[in-house]
Amino acid sequence: MAFIEIEKLHKGYCERRRRARTDDGESCFGQEITVLDDINLQFEQGELVTILGPSGCGKSTMLRLIAGFDPDFSGLVKVAGKPVHGPSNESIFVFQHNGLMPWLTVQENVELGIRFQDKLERAEAAALFIGMVELDGFEEHYPHQLSIGMQRRAELARALVVSPELLIMDEPFSGLDFLTHMKIREEVVNMHQFFHQTILLVTHNIDDALIMGDRVVVLGDRPTSVKLDRRLDFDHPRDPKTQAGLQELRDEIFLMLGVSYAV
Ligand code: ADP
Ligand code: MG
Repeated sequence: MAFIEIEKLHKGYCERRRRARTDDGESCFGQEITVLDDINLQFEQGELVTILGPSGCGKSTMLRLIAGFDPDFSGLVKVAGKPVHGPSNESIFVFQHNGLMPWLTVQENVELGIRFQDKLERAEAAALFIGMVELDGFEEHYPHQLSIGMQRRAELARALVVSPELLIMDEPFSGLDFLTHMKIREEVVNMHQFFHQTILLVTHNIDDALIMGDRVVVLGDRPTSVKLDRRLDFDHPRDPKTQAGLQELRDEIFLMLGVSYAV
C-alpha cells in the first residue's frame, strides 16, 4: 500500500456562491470551474516528489486537499492508510511562507510544534534543529529581525523538529535571493537524505524539480491531469543542464510546458 493514495480525485470551484434560503449551507450558482479531474497518483513513504505544472493548473489545490485543508472534493485521498477529511492529521506539516508567529522568538517558534513535550526535551530538540539550519545565535530574535532567508530557515527548523511523516512544501523558494535559494534547496535535499520524510514539493522551477526529486510529476493545464510521472534515479549533486539522462528530460519538460528553447 502506498503512503499517499489519490484516487479519482475531482475538485471544482464555484464561480458564484449564494447562501441558500432553505438551510444554512451555500449553493453554487453559475458554473463550476473544474480544477482537478480524475487524478490518480500514489506516493511511496520516504519519497521526495517534485510537482511541476503551469500556473493556475491546480498544484496548490491538490496540496491543500492532501493536507486536509479543504474537505470539499470527491474521490479519495488517503495518507498513511487513513482517508483525509480535515487538517487533524498530526503527522503532516505544511511548510508555509510567513508561517512563523511574529510575537514568538525563533526558539519559541521552533518549540511550538513540540509544546507538549517536557521543557528540557523541547530545548534540546530546538537547539539541534536551530543548529542544523545555521541559526545559532538567533534564538532570541523575533521573525521581523531576521532576513527572509533566515525566516525560511527558521520555518524549516520548525518543520524538522516535529519530525513529520509528510512534509508539504508549496513553492518554498519563492521570494528568496539566488544564493539563499541554492542553500536552502541543498538543505532540504540533505535533510531528506538524512530523515527520509515523504516530501511533496511544488515548484515552477524545472531545475529545482530535477535536482531535488526522487520522482517528478508534471501536471497539465486546468482541468489538470498527470502529463509525466518519472523516477529520478540519479545521485546527488546533479546538474540537469549537462548530465546525461537529466538533460533530455529537462528539454522534454520545458517543451511540455510550452518552452522550446530552454536556457
Ligand atoms: P496553482 O497552484 O497550480 O498555480 P491553484 O491550485 O492555486 O493553482 O488554482 C487552480 C485554479 O483554481 C485557478 O484557476 C484558481 O483561480 C482557482 N482557485 C484556486 N483557489 C480558488 C478558490 N478558493 N475559489 C475559486 N477558485 C479558486
Ligand atoms: Mg500555487
